[in-house]
Amino acid sequence: MLVREATLRSLITDIFAAGGSEAAEAAMLSDHLVDANLYGHDSHGVGMVPTYIKHVKSGRVFANRPVTLAHDGGALMVFDGGLGYGRRAAGEAMAQAVARARETGVVAFALRNAHHIGRVGRYGEMGIEAGFVSIHFVNVADHGPLVAPHRGSDARFSTNPFCVGIPAGRTTKPLLLDMATSKVAMGKVRVAYNEGKALAPGLVMDDRGQPSTDPSVMFREPMGALTTFAEHKGYALALVCEILAGGLGGGGTIQPATPRKGGIINSMFSVVIDPARLVDMDWLGREIDAMIAYAKGSPAADPALPVLVPGEPERLSAEARRRDGVPIDPTTWGEIMDAARRVGLDPQALERRAAA
Ligand code: NAD
Repeated sequence: MLVREATLRSLITDIFAAGGSEAAEAAMLSDHLVDANLYGHDSHGVGMVPTYIKHVKSGRVFANRPVTLAHDGGALMVFDGGLGYGRRAAGEAMAQAVARARETGVVAFALRNAHHIGRVGRYGEMGIEAGFVSIHFVNVADHGPLVAPHRGSDARFSTNPFCVGIPAGRTTKPLLLDMATSKVAMGKVRVAYNEGKALAPGLVMDDRGQPSTDPSVMFREPMGALTTFAEHKGYALALVCEILAGGLGGGGTIQPATPRKGGIINSMFSVVIDPARLVDMDWLGREIDAMIAYAKGSPAADPALPVLVPGEPERLSAEARRRDGVPIDPTTWGEIMDAARRVGLDPQALERRAAA
């Protein structure tokens, strides 16, 4: 089904509000997930609502918890999410780091103990909106691993995302690199599994470490594993994300002594830089424009697939989905309706609003 963006925002806001969030938090969570759908990242969109509601009902996340500043070392800051919603914790931490970087020129900060922070690109965008460059390393704890190390045969990592935001040039749009270090997000494997489709080769291995195209290897015991992008390089970056994000803020890595209670805890290590402290901004804007034009000027090997830059596929997706509506597969929609029922809403009333 296709749901209009505005309708989806208001339906999902109502579900989070009924789940106990104050109005501003409910709207923030809804916007964050709907934006992920608009940008084409359905794995981090409204399909996460059932998980968030399950976790708030079981005490794996707590509504209405602001982030706290656990250590203030000037240009070094450590924030604690207090097991509140990750979008709120990471957004509040990023806002404080940006404000501090206006004074100091650079801030390195760590966030620990936050629930799922979702699409990490949102925090890169917050840096971009302030005119700042930002770099983000993320790990995931509190649940079992999903991704095998290069040359390994079972899961030892999560999908450890990495993100870099770079403000716009003089004529070009901002650059936003926002990616998991696995070749494919777990949500995309779930979609293939729900639809009974085979995966492309190279994305998963079975429980004996053998290559597979069957998504069910990730949904049975013993479980298989996802592979890292770019073989050894993706694995190496995932390990760096684990140690920077899970280590420097004190939240812990996914190694087995860190408790796994079945929730999702994201830790993030970020660096926020005011580029105006380093170079002339007019020059930098022209340099970014020239570099993007140079990269995009490479003749497409396949004329149907022109060279793009990071952030561009998401802008194209958002344009189409704002116009046509957000596609939601029947399994995901059914799970969202179940979540609505769990928080005391009438799914039929929501269905009618979605169809209007
Ligand atoms: P992806 O593979 O679709 O895209 C990754 C990046 O590649 C994006 O920056 C995109 O702009 C860029 N890109 C895509 N095609 C391009 C092209 N042709 N040329 C140039 N650049 C191109 O994304 P993904 O790895 O599936 O990640 C999806 C989302 O999942 C991200 O928002 C990520 O933050 C999120 N995520 C979150 C968690 C978490 O624990 N919170 C974990 C994993 C992933």
